[in-house]
Amino acid sequence: MQTFDFVIIGGGSAGCVLADKLSESGEHSVCLLEAGKSDKNWLIHLPIGIIGLLKSRSLNWQFNSHAENTLNNREIFTPRGKTLGGSSSINAMLYVRGQKQDYDHWQSLGNDGWAFDDVLPYFKELEHQERGADEFHGINGPLNVADSVSKPAVSDDFIQSAITAGYPKNNDFNGATQEGIGYFQVTQKNGLRHSAAKAFLTPNLTRKNLTVLTQTYVEKLIIIDGVATGVIYKHNGKLQQVIASKEVIVSAGAINSPQILMLSGIGPKAELEKHDIKVLHALEGVGKNLQDHVDVLSVAQHDRTELLAYRPKAIWWGIKETVKFITKRTGLLTTVIAEAGGFIKSEPSLTEPDLQLHFVPAAMDDHGRNNKLLCTYGVALHVCLLRPKSRGSVKLYSNKSSQHPRIELNMLDHEDDIKTMIKAVKIAKNILSSPPLSSSHVKFIFPEEGCASDQEIHQFLKSKCNTIYHPVGTCKMGQDDLAVVDEQLKVRGIKQLRVVDASIMPTLISGNTNAPTMMIAAKAADMILADHC
Ligand SMILES: Cc1cc2nc3c(=O)[nH]c(=O)nc-3n(C[C@H](O)[C@H](O)[C@H](O)COP(=O)(O)OP(=O)(O)OC[C@H]3O[C@@H](n4cnc5c(N)ncnc54)[C@H](O)[C@@H]3O)c2cc1C
Repeated sequence: MQTFDFVIIGGGSAGCVLADKLSESGEHSVCLLEAGKSDKNWLIHLPIGIIGLLKSRSLNWQFNSHAENTLNNREIFTPRGKTLGGSSSINAMLYVRGQKQDYDHWQSLGNDGWAFDDVLPYFKELEHQERGADEFHGINGPLNVADSVSKPAVSDDFIQSAITAGYPKNNDFNGATQEGIGYFQVTQKNGLRHSAAKAFLTPNLTRKNLTVLTQTYVEKLIIIDGVATGVIYKHNGKLQQVIASKEVIVSAGAINSPQILMLSGIGPKAELEKHDIKVLHALEGVGKNLQDHVDVLSVAQHDRTELLAYRPKAIWWGIKETVKFITKRTGLLTTVIAEAGGFIKSEPSLTEPDLQLHFVPAAMDDHGRNNKLLCTYGVALHVCLLRPKSRGSVKLYSNKSSQHPRIELNMLDHEDDIKTMIKAVKIAKNILSSPPLSSSHVKFIFPEEGCASDQEIHQFLKSKCNTIYHPVGTCKMGQDDLAVVDEQLKVRGIKQLRVVDASIMPTLISGNTNAPTMMIAAKAADMILADHC
C-alpha cells in the first residue's frame, strides 16, 4: 500500500491539469489514477480520428442514458473519454470559454471567487494562443490554441449564409463578445490534437513526485470518521489501496464522479439505501442537477461533390489528403468535423446568445454512426440550447462499481426549452436555405419539408434531439441544499475530499465545456496548494 500527498481520481481534462500543477514545485507527491489506457493510439492524435473514437469500445465509456420519456423513450448515446486526457482525448477540440455572464452568475449564487474577472486569469494562464496575447488571451500556457487549418469551402458558404440570414460575423468567440458566426479556434498543435494529457501530463511524466497509473479503476473512497484517507481500486483484476496523506480529489467527470461518491456512501440517503449501500454521509445533491446542451441536427442534401461522404471517390481523397497532412500538416485529416459555427439569439431582444450552432460539411446523423446517410452528399447544422432549464440526474442501477451509472438526461422536460428549440429548428432551416448555400441545396432530409407547425417540430425534436456532449452539474458548487461542494470545491461534511471537474458547475456555461473544466482545475490547484503550503 503506497502513500501520496494527493491522490487524483481520473486523468481527464481536470485531472491532467491538477496533476501538473500539484506536482510542479516538486514538494508534493501526486498519484493520478485513470481507468482507461494510456493515450498511445493514432485515433486520438489525428483529429479526423474522432469519427473512430465515437465508436471505440476501449477509449470511450459508451454510456447510454436510461430510456428518456421526454424523447420518445430513446436511450441517448452519451460518450465519455476513457484514456489519459479523458474526454479531451476524444472531443471535437473546439476551444470555447462561454460567456462572462455565466461566471458572474456562479458568483451571484454565492460562489465567491468565481466571477468572470476571477476566472479569466486562469483561462489566460493555461493558454498558448497562436494569434498572440491580448486582453483576453495568454501565450505562456501549455495548452495550444490555434486557428483550424481545415476550412472547407462549404463552411465559408455556411458563414456567408448565416450573415445573409442576418447574423453578425465574429472572429473570436472568446474575445470581447461571443455573439456571431465564424470559425472556432481549436486545441491543436501542428495539426494534431492537443488534449489535456498532451498539454499538461505527457511533458511532465518524468517528474519523480508524479505517479500515473492507467487501467486502474477506482471502486470507492476510503472514509474513516468523516475523513477521506485513500481509495480502493482495481488493477489487473486485483483490489488494491492507495493512501492520501493530504487530500483525495475526485475528477472522474460529471457521470462518474457522482457514481464514485455514491458507491462510497456519500449521496442521497434514499438512493443509497435502495442499493444497500451504507450511508456514511447523506448528501442529497450528489447526482442531481444534471444539465446538458440539448441539440438537434437539420440535414440537407446538396448538389456538390466536394462534401464529405462515404463514396468511392473518398479513397482517392484519402490518399491526397494523407500526402497533404504529411507534407504540410493541413487538410482533411486535421478536421474537427465542425470547424464553423457560432452563437446567436433566438430572439433579438435577448441580451446574450442562447443558441450555439455547429456546422458539419457532411450529411451527419446519430453522432456520425449513420453510415447510410453519410453516403449522401449533404450538410448538417447542429443547434443547441446554451442554458437549458431542464434538469436530469445520475443515479445507480446497483451497488456494483462495474455497472454503468443510470443517466437520466431529462432533456426537453421544461416548457421553455421546448419553445426555444422550436425556434432553433426554424432558424437552422432559414440559414441552410439562405444564399450562397441555397444554390447547391437539393432538399431537406430532416426535418422534412412538411414539418412546419410548432407541434410538428416538437414531435421532430422528441424523435431527434441528442446531447452535444456537455454534461455538468452533478456535484454542484453552491450554498443551497443540493450543493455538494463549497466554493473551495471541498465536499460538504467530509474532510480531505474535493471534487474538481465539470460536475461542480452550478449551471451549464454557454458553450463547449473543455476549456472551462481545465480552468476549474487550475483554480482548484491554487486553492489546494494554498491550504497545504
Ligand atoms: C465526443 C465529445 C465531443 C466533445 N467536444 C468538445 C469540444 O469540441 N470542445 C469542448 O470544449 N468540449 C467538448 N466536449 C466536452 C469536454 O471534452 C468535457 O466537458 C471535458 O473533457 C470534461 O472534463 P472532465 O475532467 O470533467 O471529465 P473527463 O475529461 O471525461 O475525465 C474523466 C476521467 O476520469 C476517468 N474515470 C472515470 N471513472 C473512473 C474511475 N472509477 N476510476 C478511474 N478513472 C475514472 C475517465 O476514464 C476519464 O479519463 C466533448 C465531449 C465529448 C465526449
